[in-house]
Amino acid sequence: MRYVIIGNGGAGVRAAQAIRARDLEGDIAIVDRETYPCYYRMRLPDYISGWRKRESVFLVDDSFYEDNRMEFLRGVEVTGIDPESRVVRLDGRRDLPYHRLLIAAGARPRELACPGGGLDGVVYLRTLDQADDIIRRGREAKAAVALGGGLLGVEMARAFNEMGLATAYLIREDRFWPQMLDAAGSSLVEKVLEEKGIELRKEEGIEEILGKDGRVAGVRTTSGAELPADMVGIAVGVASNLEFLEGSGLETDRGVLVDEGLRASLPDIYAAGDIAQALDVGSGEHRLVTSWLNAQRQGETAGINMSGGDSSLEAVIPYNVIVIYGLPVACIGLDLPPADAGYEVLTGDFPRDGKYRKLVLREGALVGATFIGEVREAQAAETLIKKKADLSGWRDRLFDPGFDLRRLPEELAG
Ligand SMILES: Cc1cc2nc3c(=O)[nH]c(=O)nc-3n(C[C@H](O)[C@H](O)[C@H](O)COP(=O)(O)OP(=O)(O)OC[C@H]3O[C@@H](n4cnc5c(N)ncnc54)[C@H](O)[C@@H]3O)c2cc1C
Repeated sequence: MRYVIIGNGGAGVRAAQAIRARDLEGDIAIVDRETYPCYYRMRLPDYISGWRKRESVFLVDDSFYEDNRMEFLRGVEVTGIDPESRVVRLDGRRDLPYHRLLIAAGARPRELACPGGGLDGVVYLRTLDQADDIIRRGREAKAAVALGGGLLGVEMARAFNEMGLATAYLIREDRFWPQMLDAAGSSLVEKVLEEKGIELRKEEGIEEILGKDGRVAGVRTTSGAELPADMVGIAVGVASNLEFLEGSGLETDRGVLVDEGLRASLPDIYAAGDIAQALDVGSGEHRLVTSWLNAQRQGETAGINMSGGDSSLEAVIPYNVIVIYGLPVACIGLDLPPADAGYEVLTGDFPRDGKYRKLVLREGALVGATFIGEVREAQAAETLIKKKADLSGWRDRLFDPGFDLRRLPEELAG
């Protein structure tokens, strides 16, 4: 059996491991345009800030591929696939045959279309090379602007600030991360950003990036303000790397459409990770989920199925955890803070001491949880949500001093 995996990221490598665990004989080839062993993209901001050494961003080292008898075709671009002849086209000139193919090509940052968007000093963060480039530029720079209200935007702002640059952080929204946090949660995070000296500018975007001699010199914001900047970091979302699939006949939407077993619309082709728009058995919809945990889970499931097993994804429970200047923030369950009367929102006496704990119930079952400052209970919350465990009997004790959800799952597991 010959397995080909496009993408040496978290999803691709997890799938390769799952295949190797079940098929000791098959040939496994992993193709990637990057040249490094698989690394944690989420560690790049800490590497830029100086909190982490370069070697600690790697998930595996070079020997991993040899030790597991995997062929790593590094620095190779996949330019197309031909499902009829069962080959992957490499660098537009040679073909790599497969019996089972995994598409785990991830996503890339969306570019900002505005005047000055192509100036030297406009940066994006997805790869280790880009992180190295940001570090180099940071040595010369004095001021930076970061744009984007998602997790990556705030990480970029933090990295710029910790490099010692005067940092303005622009978000379109009227508060930090309203998709996930309520007003109390947002303000705890905003307070930390401000204390660290980041100039948070709400309801503001970039109108134009100003340049001098082809290099970034500042930005003009949508409110007309001019801010100085030697570097502008853009984090306005990601787009799946679908281009090489054009003309292949594979069904795609915003990602590659796959079922709950990660099977795509043509035989023996699978997709996993940021590029996969998988059927969510909970909602019945195909969803893109762009997180490390999702890449791991999908890679594992795809690898099992590619090597003859039978595995299915569970319903998607949104699970977002981030640490902002040492302040951990976890949002589990609901995508949006509920506005509906059917939900019961419990916060006890939080926020207090820079911490927040919020539990959202619907008909007695936990459906969402937010933890800020202390996130020990995040996984237990996910388990309870998944099991639709009935917490009615515990409702009045959930905010008792010392109460901990981690004690509940076992008791409610049945
Ligand atoms: C800076 C940063 C911080 C993040 N922080 C967090 C976090 O805190 N928590 C969290 O859960 N998630 C975080 N994420 C998201 C998380 O890293 C991704 O969801 C995850 O890495 C996706 O893994 P993947 O294997 O699907 O894709 P990727 O890791 O992107 O791997 C895809 C690979 O495919 C290769 N490729 C693409 N097209 C081709 C082609 N045509 N030919 C050859 N090779 C190709 C790419 O080079 C890439 O190596 C962060 C991401 C970034 C960039």
